[in-house]
Parts: sequence; C-alpha cells; structure tokens
Amino acid sequence: MLEKIVIANRGEIALRILRACREMGIKTVAVHSTADRDLKPVRLADESVCIGPAPASESYLNGAAVISAAEVTDAVAIHPGYGFLAENADFAERVEQSGFVFIGPRPDTIRLMGHKVSAIRAMKQAGVPCVPGSEGTLGDDPDENLRIARDIGYPIMIKATGGGGGRGMRVVHSEAALLNAIGLTQGEAQAAFGKSAVYLERFLEAPRHIEIQVLADTCGNAIHLGDRDCSIQRRHQKIIEEAPAPGVSPAERAAVGARCVDACLEIDYRGAGTFEFLYEGGQFYFIEMNTRVQVEHPVTEMVTGVDIIKEQIRVASGEPLSYRQEDIVLRGHAVECRINAEDPATFAPSPGTISLFHPPGGPGIRLDTHIYQGYKVPPYYDSLIGKLIAHGEDRHAALMRMLNALTEVVIDGIRTNLPLHRDMMHDAGFRAGGMDIHYLEKKLGLF
Ligand code: ADP
Repeated sequence: MLEKIVIANRGEIALRILRACREMGIKTVAVHSTADRDLKPVRLADESVCIGPAPASESYLNGAAVISAAEVTDAVAIHPGYGFLAENADFAERVEQSGFVFIGPRPDTIRLMGHKVSAIRAMKQAGVPCVPGSEGTLGDDPDENLRIARDIGYPIMIKATGGGGGRGMRVVHSEAALLNAIGLTQGEAQAAFGKSAVYLERFLEAPRHIEIQVLADTCGNAIHLGDRDCSIQRRHQKIIEEAPAPGVSPAERAAVGARCVDACLEIDYRGAGTFEFLYEGGQFYFIEMNTRVQVEHPVTEMVTGVDIIKEQIRVASGEPLSYRQEDIVLRGHAVECRINAEDPATFAPSPGTISLFHPPGGPGIRLDTHIYQGYKVPPYYDSLIGKLIAHGEDRHAALMRMLNALTEVVIDGIRTNLPLHRDMMHDAGFRAGGMDIHYLEKKLGLF
C-alpha cells in the first residue's frame, strides 16, 4: 500500500482524501497556497508544504511545485482531487516520470478522453451510445458540410474541439443559417482556444444530465456503480445531484452501465471515472468522460456503500478492486446540495469570515466541508464551501432529510445559496423528479 500521499488540492476534496488516507493508515502531505495556511486539511495533514502565492496559477496549478513537495517529503504518490491538475495529462506524465504514482488514469487515457473528437471516436468504437453527429471535425467543403448536417437533422450544435466549460458551442435551427454559423464558431474558437476545428452534433432540446460512475483496476477488472442525475444546473454548473436517477429503470441502468464497463476495458481505463450522458426520450447520448473523482461522488457512495477514494488509492497501489459487479447493490436514494459562498440572488461570490457555523446532523446526513467557525473563505478559488448529502430509504425520505438538514444548518458572516436549496426542496417539479437541464434556469427566469 502507498505509504505517503501528497494531496494536490484544497477545500472539501482535500479533506475528503485526507480522511480516506487516515482510515487506510496512509500518511498525508497537504500542499497549499499562502492564502490557505489555515485550511482545515492543512492543519490536519501529517505534513504540509506551501507551494506558492494565492493565485491558483502560481500554486495549485504549478505542477513542478507539487512534484517538488512530493520529493522533499518522501511521498510516493499524488492525489489530484478534481479541478486544478486532475485532468492534465502532461502533469500526470511528469508525476510518473519523476517516479511517483499518479492516483488517476494513465496519462494517455487522460489525453484521449480530454479531446472531444478522439473521446467520441473511442466511445463509438466501444459501443457507447453517442449523440448523432459528424465523423470527426468538419472540412472546408460547404456542400459536404450541408450534407453532413442534413443527415444529422436540425437543430444542430456546432462545437469547437478545443472548447470546454460550456464555451465554444452554437446552436443552428435551420440549413440557411448553418454555413455562416460554422464560420463564426471557427473564428471564435481560433481566437479563444487557438484551434478553429469544429464538429457537429444533433442538438438535444430538453435532455437530462445522467452520468455513470465507473471503477477499474490494473488487474483486468472494471465495474460501474450506477448512475447520478445532475440535471439541476445553472450555467452548466451542477447545483443538486442525486442517485439513482429518477425514472431510469434498473434494466436501462444496467445496460448503459455495462457499455461503460466495456469501454473501460477497451481503453484500458484505470481508477475512478465518469461517463457523462445527455438523456432524452429514453436514450443515453455520451457527451464526455471525466477521468477523475467528481464533486458529486458522495451520492453514489451513499447508495452503494463503496468508498470511491479508497478504491482509487487501492487501484493506484496495484491492488484489485474490493468489489465485483454483483456486489454492487443500490440501497435507497441520496441527494447532494452544493453549498456555495455566493449571493443567493445575484450568484456573485461572497468570500469572507464565517462568524457562526452550526452543522446539521441526524440519520442519513453527511456534510463534506472544510469550513469551521472563524474560517475565512478566500476570494481566489471556486465558491464551493461544502456539500450536504442526505440518504434515505427512498427519494421522498432523502428529500425530507435534506429539507430538515437545510433548515438546521447555519452559516453566518457570508452569503450562501442555502435559500435556493431550501426553495428547491419545496419545488413541485423537483419533488416530482426527472426535470431537464434547463429546469433551474427557467425557474430562475434566466432561460
Ligand atoms: P464542455 O466540455 O464545454 O463542458 P460538453 O460537451 O460537456 O462541453 O457540453 C456542455 C453542456 O452543453 C452539456 O452539459 C449540455 O448542457 C450542453 N450540450 C452539449 N452537447 C449538447 C447537445 N448535443 N445537445 C444539447 N445540449 C448539449
């Protein structure tokens, strides 16, 4: 087993990884910026190393500094968490070349799945259902592009291969607008991402976002842990997630899960990963794979009982997964609310000192957070300050527990989106379940 791990992240996920390491008897090194000296995981880790100033580009994104921290502390492995360097293939490669274990997939796999066109091609080959679209990037023959679009059918989405974070996409509703829109998107993509290449996909008008969690080891085993519904979003940012996805039958879940497992074996996947799908009209359409642990992994942990971080660490140590597919049984329902330090009305970030903090509790309640009373939320990073997770024997029970917990929790001194979550627990559409990815924005009057 790995003896000492550098946790190359901050906030709640750094604490989550630290807790898993503790349970496994693994020593921890927290790396942090100058703004994060008082961060809970920094205080709790066996050792800590300051790797740079507050801006992430000079600290948490500084791969060389993270690797140096592993060197000076005699650590053997690096866990990247999510965000920052987690899906940076060059970083993963440098970690391995420096003689450390990267707790994640092979660098080549990160690279393959990080490029949209190569990822879609690999998934089609592996039998994973994809959105109907062009075979790779478009050439410059207008007639050919019109023909490709006609085969796909309108409305169509033009997507830049270099795009990310919901940028570099444009919807076209009719043939008359296509060629002009392709030119515009190519120009914008060149300016924004340094690459003008675009491809086409059928635009799905009201899909849900449903994803499949997978785990694979280096002994030839891969399993899936069922699905998560992450359709409650604002500006492509997930706000509420749940498992299992309402209305998806066990047979549908097993079928799409099996395709994802096949794909893992096909691409020789290693560690934890997520296949993201749009789901419309009872069909799953692959959009991308995340080659890391995700923010919303706890809802899967609550319904399966699997500790995803511990499995990541086991796999990185060369051990087989602790579970076979037949061991995975979904029990009850789990919901997660992402608590952000932001104004509930304007969504503007709200950093500052937490003057009062009362965490919620009771059966089935889990709070993954690094905050404490007196903690100062810095202005430099993501506004996520915690995740509240409720588990119950069914969806109704989970939502009632969540509502209770949201009523109990007190976070004063900064503004948070707790009022939005409380409101959502009473929302008729959300309570019914199965809303599409535009539901929250429509409710907020943004769509
Ligand atoms: P990014 O890498 O920028 O996040 P994705 O391909 O994951 O790009 O798409 C981001 C979001 O854009 C999706 O979650 C979905 O809301 C929307 N989207 C992407 N492709 C389609 C499509 N073919 N039809 C409808 N919406 C789409």
